[in-house]
Amino acid sequence: MNVIETNSLGRRYRRTWALRDCTLTIPGGHIVALVGPNGAGKTTLLTMAVGLTRPTQGTVTVLGGEPAGSPDALDRIAFVAQDAPLYRNLPVADMLHVARNLNRRWDQRYAQARLDRLGIPPPQKVGELSGGQKAQLALTIALSRRPSLLVLDEPLAALDPVARDDFLTSVVDAAQGEGISVVLSSHVLAELERVATYLVVLTRGEIRVAGMVRELIGSHGAGLEEIALRYLRAGVPSSRTEAAE
Ligand code: ATP
Repeated sequence: MNVIETNSLGRRYRRTWALRDCTLTIPGGHIVALVGPNGAGKTTLLTMAVGLTRPTQGTVTVLGGEPAGSPDALDRIAFVAQDAPLYRNLPVADMLHVARNLNRRWDQRYAQARLDRLGIPPPQKVGELSGGQKAQLALTIALSRRPSLLVLDEPLAALDPVARDDFLTSVVDAAQGEGISVVLSSHVLAELERVATYLVVLTRGEIRVAGMVRELIGSHGAGLEEIALRYLRAGVPSSRTEAAE
């Protein structure tokens, strides 16, 4: 099943289109890298996909249905917003308690085991955790909901190289071990190269390229980072891979 399908999807804020005419099909079972410069429309696309932003035009289908179509549909999507919003003044254990009460499919044993493995102490206040630990806590909360689709908006921005590597390893483990499809937006191309199996490049509100990394590498004779850079630099409107050829 396709995890995300959009058809002429667009969102306008006053006179400016944050995203326009976006037609995209992302098959399941991938780790999708959504790449684009600041203001490209990545967050707009992701928040429409998880049902937090309403489209101005077009449609978006997630896991075969409307993203916010029913509580069941919402249960299957986990979204970690930019800067991983968490309650800073709560101890980690209480943060888990809040998340548990808000989510019907919560797996407390999984959450505790994961934090234990990461060495994140339950009594510690969230605000006192390192950036990497906060990101891992947000990821743990998202994964403990047992989603089919995990959407991460710029999860790497505040992390040092080791924390980035640890975080991405966790994402790959979740994708491979638990069969979760993942979509993550990021500017950190070098690190995405290691994990992404599907690439979407977005600039100025329009899709420049979308496709399986394996196939793009075959057709472009370059790695993910170089392919992404080519399309980011090209800035030529097109929704097809041939755009930068
Ligand atoms: P970044 O990498 O900086 O997070 P982005 O690719 O996620 O950027 P968006 O946040 O989707 O980009 O923004 C796309 C465009 O839409 C920008 O021009 C932004 O100013 C505009 N925009 C986004 N949200 C709103 C809003 N709530 N009201 C008005 N304009 C908005």
